[in-house]
Amino acid sequence: SEEVRRHMDRLAADGVDVVRVTYPDLIGTDRARDVLLEELPRACEHGLAFCRAVYHTSPQGDVVPVSGGLDAGLPDICVRPDLDTLVPLPWEPGVAACLGEVVDPATGAPAPESPRDLLRSVLARCAEHGLRPVVGPELEYFLCEPDGSGGWRRYAPDPGVVYTAGLRADPDNHLLRTLRHVRDLKVGAISGNHEFDGGQIEINLVHSDAVSAADRSFRFKAAIKELARKEGRLATFMAKPFNDAGGSGFHLHLSCDDEEGRNTFDDPSGAYGLSAAARHAVAGVLAHAPALAALLNPTVNSYKRFGPDTLAPWLIDWGLDNRSAMVRIPPERGSGARLELRLGDASANPYLAIAATTAAALLGVLAGEEPPTPLEGYGYDTARSAVLPQTLSAALDALEADTALTDLLGKGFTTSFLSYKRDEVERFHRHVTDWEFTEYAYHL
Ligand code: GLU
Ligand code: MG
Ligand code: MG
Repeated sequence: SEEVRRHMDRLAADGVDVVRVTYPDLIGTDRARDVLLEELPRACEHGLAFCRAVYHTSPQGDVVPVSGGLDAGLPDICVRPDLDTLVPLPWEPGVAACLGEVVDPATGAPAPESPRDLLRSVLARCAEHGLRPVVGPELEYFLCEPDGSGGWRRYAPDPGVVYTAGLRADPDNHLLRTLRHVRDLKVGAISGNHEFDGGQIEINLVHSDAVSAADRSFRFKAAIKELARKEGRLATFMAKPFNDAGGSGFHLHLSCDDEEGRNTFDDPSGAYGLSAAARHAVAGVLAHAPALAALLNPTVNSYKRFGPDTLAPWLIDWGLDNRSAMVRIPPERGSGARLELRLGDASANPYLAIAATTAAALLGVLAGEEPPTPLEGYGYDTARSAVLPQTLSAALDALEADTALTDLLGKGFTTSFLSYKRDEVERFHRHVTDWEFTEYAYHL
């Protein structure tokens, strides 16, 4: 078409000869295909065929079933390039990247495991109630380097460099190089620093509408992993990669604009300077937290990040500028009035995490309930607040039981997600870990 031609002319003028079409699968991994520029019109017309399954790259290399995937003989899904999202890859001359829309090849309708569409459908429900979620993502990751014997160790694990930037925390200037590249990728990077633990880095992204926030988080994570590879390193967003360090969070800042773009979470005369909608959103997030965990903390490993005294949450509670609470209300009001949900870990699929969080906030607004009084001080009081699910299995059960939430997320998605994740739990239970060997082998 005319529009594809226009994009191709511009790409060719920019020296681009390959377009990388990337889509998020159910678990948020970036699946992609490199398409020669001259083949772009065909890819746009017919879409690119991928196999309807979720893969994981364990040593076993298993294909894991999603319903309608393995059980149906691994049929195709179709991925259509979204040319509005084209951007040159700053570190790969001649290549531009765009996102792909995942559709059913027969009907052209969004596939139930298209996370981007799932997010859009939740946002459409928010819009019916005059709410436009605004989301600010914060992602943390660990950078690893080869340990010399086939494994990986933390990069620059020097103690005492928490919340710093520069050569003491980062002798090879990984952060500076990475920050400049992700700026050029236009994912809305603001700033970065060495995080709490050795080899851990955080880069903040600007807030925006929810689809853009999810797109940018997804592309950011893929970029970080690529850039680390380019340095011969491994960047991981897994929740808790090391026993002797804290985990990596995916904090989400959330407010809601009205149709005129005013922040509906601000109200100088409301309790705590927050509007009723903001307080109801907090109550909704608290009420649906066990189910949210399944999507914001979606791995077996995620539950090892939770705990008292960790900066990651443990109890289902909220507080005013209180980092020991699961929901923190940052001190700003006015256009900056918002909540920070500290529940998510960096392994979450950004589309699902943001969809689930906005869905819970919407349910809270619709229910119109007030949250309990906010947590005061540094507190882990189990008499006051419930404990988050302790395992992925418990969180999946909570998700299945939370029909108000799963109605918003859709039945097709929920069935696929639960079957994939329950398979993961089972594979973990069957696997003998190092811990078991050291715990039992010597004295039993
Ligand atoms: N790394 C912490 C977490 O797992 C968060 C640290 C922070 O407050 O930035 O959520
Ligand atoms: Mg942080
Ligand atoms: Mg934060």
